[in-house]
Amino acid sequence: MSKTFKSGFVAIVGRPNVGKSTLLNRVLGQKIAIMSDKAQTTRNKIRGIYTTDEEQVIFIDTPGIHKPKHRLGEVMTSLALDTLNEADLILFLIDAEQGYGRGDQFIIDFLKKTESPVFLLVNKIDKVHPDDLLPLIDRYRQLYTFSEVIPLSALQGQNVSALLGQIKAYLPEGPKYYPEDQVTDHPERFIAAELIREKILQMTRDEVPHSVAVIIDKMKRKSGRNLTDVQATIMVERPSQKGIIIGRAGSMLKKIGTLARKEIEAMLGSRVFLELWVKVDKNWRDKDEELKNFGYMDRDE
Ligand code: GDP
Ligand code: MG
Repeated sequence: MSKTFKSGFVAIVGRPNVGKSTLLNRVLGQKIAIMSDKAQTTRNKIRGIYTTDEEQVIFIDTPGIHKPKHRLGEVMTSLALDTLNEADLILFLIDAEQGYGRGDQFIIDFLKKTESPVFLLVNKIDKVHPDDLLPLIDRYRQLYTFSEVIPLSALQGQNVSALLGQIKAYLPEGPKYYPEDQVTDHPERFIAAELIREKILQMTRDEVPHSVAVIIDKMKRKSGRNLTDVQATIMVERPSQKGIIIGRAGSMLKKIGTLARKEIEAMLGSRVFLELWVKVDKNWRDKDEELKNFGYMDRDE
């Protein structure tokens, strides 16, 4: 019996320091390199993508709901609401040790305005006595009707696989929106392509036109190691240009690769294993469009 593929968008909300990043790292750590907490520029910022043979979970950030002290304008409020409404599922994290706080009420007021199912994730259970959990959960349950309540430890991993199982149960049938190795729609991918392109233009001077394109086929941090695999294809329009970029016995491509690698390493703060291919394709521009739509390249909303 063939199983149907499930996919969806999962928003993570919670006060600062409750463990949102830790949870994402725990869930995604094996699968992908994760985005940092850099300033939000677009809404529905993707924080990470978890893909298995049966499901794809796209974790999104909810700008405007993380900062209760910030005076929210109407715009931020409606953006945050849109994000929550578009999510297939919302994970509301709390800190079992800290307990209830004002910031939580702010978030619960938001949750009351959305229709999406909400899980209450009681994090940091490794820090409290099990007897203290029930009263805490009761307190939150009086404020909102959660679809599921899951006590867990993002740091130590307790119940995280149970959480993943529950998330899957709530996802609708859907397509694989992003390729398996796609970690995020992070601009790092785009910047890496630009760095390679810059080196090509520097090293080949006027021999290669600016129309040369670089597509990052793969960018993946090796789990447990400070090493990132980057594979990129350099697209040119004519065989002569390919010859120039490769150089005698591959010498030019090697120079381009070394220079670009150093800069990508500096950007990522990780060692990089860079592999470059050169491809002649006079129609690459059309394909470039395709790739953009598919989410390979940086997309501006
Ligand atoms: P965020 O602000 O919600 O993203 O919170 P972080 O993920 O940055 O975590 C804040 C702090 O809580 C960090 O020092 C984490 O190591 C710690 N933390 C997160 N989850 C757990 C947990 O399950 N148990 C314990 N003991 N500490 C945790
Ligand atoms: Mg964080």
